[in-house]
Amino acid sequence: MSTDNMKTDGSIEAPVSVRLEACTLCQLQCPLCPGAPEGKYKSIAGKGYLPAETFKTFVDNNPHIRRIELSSQGEVFLNPDLPKILEYAHAENIMTTINNGANLNHATDEALEALVKFKVPVVRCAIDGVTQATYAAYRVGGNLKNVLTNIQKINAYKEKHRSSKPLLIFQFIVFGHNEHEMEQAMVLAKMLNMSFSFRLNRDPEFMPVKNRDRVKKLIGYADRKEYHEEVRRSYIKDACLMLWKFPQINWDGKLLGCPCNKWGSYAENVFEDNLATCLNNEKMRYTRQMLMGDKPPRDDIPCMGCAVYESIKKYDDWVTEKEFKSYSPEFVFQTMNK
Ligand code: SF4
Ligand code: SF4
Repeated sequence: MSTDNMKTDGSIEAPVSVRLEACTLCQLQCPLCPGAPEGKYKSIAGKGYLPAETFKTFVDNNPHIRRIELSSQGEVFLNPDLPKILEYAHAENIMTTINNGANLNHATDEALEALVKFKVPVVRCAIDGVTQATYAAYRVGGNLKNVLTNIQKINAYKEKHRSSKPLLIFQFIVFGHNEHEMEQAMVLAKMLNMSFSFRLNRDPEFMPVKNRDRVKKLIGYADRKEYHEEVRRSYIKDACLMLWKFPQINWDGKLLGCPCNKWGSYAENVFEDNLATCLNNEKMRYTRQMLMGDKPPRDDIPCMGCAVYESIKKYDDWVTEKEFKSYSPEFVFQTMNK
């Protein structure tokens, strides 16, 4: 017997969508970033970027892949090969997205035009304020003027090429220091022809929201703690489902499984080893079964360090077959666009 995209031994069919991080380098120092050198969270992702040649080899070796998300723990625009990567993916009819997020502080005109020329459908931009002081309070080292200039340049390229792509998403993470600019941010997004998305801060104790009622009225929950208590599900539980349908690969080929995994890899280099085999190695299969509650916790599984696994256990919210059947990276992408 098998579930949709999974057999009972925890193995899966080769997914058509993967997350392949193009760059973990970043010029900012957001305090809660897993990748920031001085950040609170540390990651095994290391620092570097994916060369275009490696991307081509990966695509050629995995012809079943039709969609690749390029952003995760770093700033994708710091990859000097980004235009070549987008060009090759487009030529091979593969959709590339930057939907996890980018800070857009520094980008070459070539890279910005490549987004339009090679039909990247979505770029999510982290902008948590409408004034420099508010923006840089969390985006430490960032320059809001640079970001807005780069968005205007993308819009100009969209006009030049008569294209509606990429859809630009203005993502605003709500903290205590920026909650007073929430409405102004929505107005600014509209002026920039951007879609808008609020996110709840990952650590409710860090720069906590002050006017909880106001934040709740605007986005449904004052913070993630409140979300977890009311919904009884982790705010980011969909990350677990990526082990089945949207696995995370690091820029250096490490198989991470999901974007939250900072603790240990499942395979050291999927650019050299067979991806489908790595996705079904014993550790991956065990993790899927563990997340479904079919196997007990095991110390070598990265999820043991993860707050999402803690909430799965706390709320008895094990991953189910129904979740696989309804989860689709493309579906997530479409709903995010609203
Ligand atoms: S912009 Fe993103 S990648 Fe860079 S430090 Fe901030 S959270 Fe991390
Ligand atoms: S529990 Fe495991 S799979 Fe789920 S988000 Fe955490 S590290 Fe990822």
